[in-house]
Amino acid sequence: MKPSKLLAIFFILILFCVFCNPQDGSTTKDLSQRKIKVVTTTGMIADAVQNIGGERIEVIALMGPGVDPHLYKASEGDVNRMSNADIIFYNGLHLEGKMTEIFERLRNRKTTVAIGETIQKQDLLAPPEFEGNYDPHIWFDVSLWLKAISAIAATLTEMDSTHRLIYADNFNQYGNELTDLHHYVLERASQVLQDKRVLVTAHDAFNYFGRAYAFEVRGLQGISTATEAGTADIQNLAEFIVSRRIPAIFVESSVPPRSIEALQAAVESRKFDIRIGGNLFSDAMGDAETSQGNYVGMVRHNIDTIVDALLSGNQ
Ligand SMILES: [Zn+2]
Repeated sequence: MKPSKLLAIFFILILFCVFCNPQDGSTTKDLSQRKIKVVTTTGMIADAVQNIGGERIEVIALMGPGVDPHLYKASEGDVNRMSNADIIFYNGLHLEGKMTEIFERLRNRKTTVAIGETIQKQDLLAPPEFEGNYDPHIWFDVSLWLKAISAIAATLTEMDSTHRLIYADNFNQYGNELTDLHHYVLERASQVLQDKRVLVTAHDAFNYFGRAYAFEVRGLQGISTATEAGTADIQNLAEFIVSRRIPAIFVESSVPPRSIEALQAAVESRKFDIRIGGNLFSDAMGDAETSQGNYVGMVRHNIDTIVDALLSGNQ
């Protein structure tokens, strides 16, 4: 082929490339050339994405502080945000019970990852009261959460392999932080005598916490907050608290306190003193500007609140 012909082909190719890829920097399909747009449901997932993705990502959490994911319904704005995202990470295992249909619709045209559903089934809990479903509250066992969020690192690496070393480094670093956190929780839990390690809260969010850190847990409402606690539930739990002489029960930031207050009244009517031991962050993190506004701070706050309240009781 003559050099002039080669040159002509070269120019045609260049022109073709210019016209076939008219997007500007913010919408190009090549994710290695711009920040990856991520939407998550809970703040805990957004925090993990931020730690693993670092400068490479922009993340929006749909559910802010105090928001109950079991009851959360996506707004039109949320649907738009998800439609504009490159990746959607959610917890799955029916945590976001009112968003199932939306995820199913988006799955055909978006990368959607339910990080809880990437965990091996034998690591999940399926208590009988959950009626055949797995317990979605996986973030309360820090070692299990670390397994779940490895799906975030894997997805980012797959979609943007150019920056795989950044994701691997960040994941290692955050993983070390979470391993230290897991040991901190174990160490604090060990300060409470085994027969006093009883955690009574508003809803059944703490089963993984109980399994990992050897606490007996009782929730006034079931796995989801969608059903209210009945009078019989309150009376039964009050009886249990008095018989075990449990010094403190706990409210949760994402559940109205009225059911725990009713429980406190039922215990006190049995002439037993019970304190509200503090406010736990269960299904949502604290305000962004507070120390409980990230996953590590939330977990530390919870274990410190629980252990301090149980220790100050009648051990
Ligand atoms: Zn919950």
